Amino acid sequence: MTDITIALSKGRIFEDTAPFLKAAGIIALDDPETSRKLIIDTNKPNVRLIMVRASDVPTYVQYGAADLGVAGKDVLLEHGGMGLYQPLDLQIARCKMMVAVPEGFDYQSAVFQGARLRVATKYLKTARDHFAEKGMHVDLIKLYGSMELAPLVGLADAIVDLVSSGNTLKANYLKAVEEIRPVSARLIINQAALKLKRTTIQPMLDSFESVVGVT
Ligand code: ADP
Ligand code: MG
Repeated sequence: MTDITIALSKGRIFEDTAPFLKAAGIIALDDPETSRKLIIDTNKPNVRLIMVRASDVPTYVQYGAADLGVAGKDVLLEHGGMGLYQPLDLQIARCKMMVAVPEGFDYQSAVFQGARLRVATKYLKTARDHFAEKGMHVDLIKLYGSMELAPLVGLADAIVDLVSSGNTLKANYLKAVEEIRPVSARLIINQAALKLKRTTIQPMLDSFESVVGVT
């Protein structure tokens, strides 16, 4: 039996991926939210899950430490996608990559006047590409989380972050002013593994595909 390792991250990706795994007959034997184990066995003796940081999922799959993974498009854009197939948009963990500014800030006039904005984000590549495409000069400041704080304490004029309900922005007196792109999580597959383990991976892929849009 061919061994398969699937890289997932805790939280919404793990939760939203469960129905896809179930469709493929895979059930985790431990709950990663409560277990401290980083390798989680499943009901299938040849399939295991590894729990890694969301932004590390593409790296594990790229190097073949995992055969498959589930990663947000946000993370995949920053990673670059080397060595990965991205055959399936699972349409889970849906949100939007957006530019947000303090409620009182007139973003459109700042853009129109060619103001040089300071933008805080953990998505440097996506932000750089977006503002370059708009012909805007920005100074990017790399953060690792809680981007909403940056404009409140004078670190930045704007942020680039993921937005779903907008409640976090609202709670921090920010508003979304520009959509960069929609974001959802994708199935990713190591390119070599897909060739070598096709007979095992293809049926899993078919099962996953049958659940897209149903969850
Ligand atoms: P981390 O805090 O390590 O970035 P998250 O669980 O917050 O992990 O995010 C994991 C993935 O879930 C992100 O890469 C993104 O694709 C997606 N995501 C993040 N925030 C949201 C959100 N507000 N709504 C829907 N999906 C989101
Ligand atoms: Mg988060």
